[in-house]
Amino acid sequence: MEKRAEKRRRIVLVPLPLQGHITPMMQLGQALNLKGFSITVALGELNQVSSSSQHFPGFQFVTILETVPVSQHETLGLVEFLVKLNKTTEASFKNCIAQLLLQQGNDIACIIYDELMYFSEAAAKELKVPSVMFCTGSATNQVCSCILSKLNVEKFLIDMEDPEMQDKVVENLHPLKYKNLPTSGMGPLKPFLDICREVCNKRTASAVIINTTSCLESLSLSWLQQELEIPVYPLGPLHIRASANLSLLEEDRTCIEWLNKKKPRSVIYISFGSIAHMETKELLEMACGLCDSNQPFLWVIRPGSIPGSELLPEEVSKMVSERGYIVKWAPQNDVLAHPAVGGFWSHCGWNSTLESIVEGVPMICRPFNGEQKLNALYIQSVWRIGIQLEGEVERGSVERAVKMLIMDDEGACMRERALGLKEKLKASVGIGGSSYNALDELVNYLETECS
Ligand code: UDP
Repeated sequence: MEKRAEKRRRIVLVPLPLQGHITPMMQLGQALNLKGFSITVALGELNQVSSSSQHFPGFQFVTILETVPVSQHETLGLVEFLVKLNKTTEASFKNCIAQLLLQQGNDIACIIYDELMYFSEAAAKELKVPSVMFCTGSATNQVCSCILSKLNVEKFLIDMEDPEMQDKVVENLHPLKYKNLPTSGMGPLKPFLDICREVCNKRTASAVIINTTSCLESLSLSWLQQELEIPVYPLGPLHIRASANLSLLEEDRTCIEWLNKKKPRSVIYISFGSIAHMETKELLEMACGLCDSNQPFLWVIRPGSIPGSELLPEEVSKMVSERGYIVKWAPQNDVLAHPAVGGFWSHCGWNSTLESIVEGVPMICRPFNGEQKLNALYIQSVWRIGIQLEGEVERGSVERAVKMLIMDDEGACMRERALGLKEKLKASVGIGGSSYNALDELVNYLETECS
């Protein structure tokens, strides 16, 4: 274990307690803990993650008094939930940090906060504790937030009626076009752009950490380094180094036994992450297409992910029982690493995207919101390790996509490229790799600039 600081200095982490955000934040905490920092995790009173402390021995957990349970993102929508959470938590977070400073004898090197927990900045500034922003999404998504934060909404909406403008490539960021800026699925445009402004324009953090690596997103990273004028540390994918995961739902490991009985690279794994919802009609089309493909499949259907129905429709259960296996929540990294898995049908959340690439698994992309559409664009057009299902999900296109990915030459080429990327990603976190160096540079920054 590496240990640099004589006295262990403390880092306070402020994660957004949603699965796709809390996982990489805790992994970052582990990486910094191994470098000699003590870790405190600040979690909302209503959003305590019950088993968190047992997975992270040695971490300190403190409570922020807040008024919005994370489950409200389902009823309010993500944007409104975030606005409310940030408004109502600022004061209690300030108290929490003030208390900590008293207890720790001012020994807090830095607050590292999820970019969407931007209330953290006011406390950091007032109490004179340095702050660093952590982006759990891609660097390209951060670029888009910066671009969106500078837009005039009315003008943008008029401009986007012009097909030429829609197809215009954002300067220096090929193949990103204006129509790809991730605004869809986020509710009304104005509140969403207000969040982008909070994150980008009002930011006072002195550095930015991104869970990505330069071999995936070099153009976007160069763009950010120029634009932000503060250090940017692309030190991902963090999960490669992590020894513990924090799953908010219980993982059903029986699917690993089921996979053990399948032929190498024959199974398609389907998961749409921790937030996305599906209509019953789409579920049925998926089930029919998957059965028609004649390939075995492992399907994660989260409780509550089909609005209006707690149980899986009986016709779907019956149909899939022969070729498929359904779980409520899977040990995703172990599934993707399993030799039987030949493809991943994903919603293209950033964590799922990184996890698939790290295991060299090609993808079928079915993005739900703008950020996921952005990831899907890169999966299909930049890294060329997957295909997008466009338009409404329909059984014929599902069958064709699954067969193409698992059985055709085109799918084999995608797998080859995915395996090539896998090697690059593993090299980037290995000794001397770009992410390995970025972590060391961050540690040096925290020890010198934040002391
Ligand atoms: N995940 C999991 N089991 C599942 C489905 C998802 O452990 O059955 C994990 C997955 O490994 C990833 C996270 O949940 O780390 C989902 O994050 P992502 O950014 O892909 O999507 P989000 O849930 O934020 O939409």
